[in-house]
Amino acid sequence: MINIKPLKAYTDNYIWLLESNEEVSVVDPGDAKPVLDYLNKTNKNLKDILITHHHFDHTAGVPELENIISGSIYGPQNSYKLIQEEVTQGHTLSSLGIKFEVIEVPGHTLDHIAFYNEENNILFCGDTLFAGGCGRVFEGTFDQMFESLNKLKQLPDSTQIYCGHEYTKNNLLFSIKVEPENNDLIMRNSGIDNLIMTNGSSLPSSIELEKKTNPFLRCDLLGDNIQLMEKFGLDIPSENEIFKHIREWKDST
Ligand SMILES: [Zn+2]
Repeated sequence: MINIKPLKAYTDNYIWLLESNEEVSVVDPGDAKPVLDYLNKTNKNLKDILITHHHFDHTAGVPELENIISGSIYGPQNSYKLIQEEVTQGHTLSSLGIKFEVIEVPGHTLDHIAFYNEENNILFCGDTLFAGGCGRVFEGTFDQMFESLNKLKQLPDSTQIYCGHEYTKNNLLFSIKVEPENNDLIMRNSGIDNLIMTNGSSLPSSIELEKKTNPFLRCDLLGDNIQLMEKFGLDIPSENEIFKHIREWKDST
């Protein structure tokens, strides 16, 4: 039996735990302390560390944890120095008996990867796709980020999204500015406070919900939104252009 649980770090980071009866693997340990506290509390051992990208808030806990793992540190190529097994598009790895396929998703950073398990519908996607939004484009191009999000959008609707931050409420407030008449989005936003209060987190989300409510996955539909295209000054825009305009608008808010 495998459980997935969030550990909170910094103000809004998530370290995701993959947990079996005796062992735990962690995704993006930006801080060692919450992981060590959890291991002490549960008397479990740390197996593997999975890294989605090099940013410190996803890796800073690794130096303290690397000496106690019984497995390995998996992460992108040419990235963070403590990665032991570099993985890239199409590679697979197994942690606690769960097989993950690696999907390259550059844009937020150039090294960014996601870990996908088809059997249990699990996606660890770091700072690429967020609930109701997407990561900032720091190192790659807008086109790269758009292509990466489209890769994730192709996954089955039932895929559960475990992303790197609790940004959902803020993202939904922005998304409503983009699509004020999207009823699925209005419904989602109206329930978000309650969800976070009762669940402690807005995650996981799903590909199905994101396709209905996340404007960054809806660029193929938004070209018909005349008001929005007028705001952007776009006449017959490509999906990529729409993506870039929405991302820049979000950056400026
Ligand atoms: Zn990041």
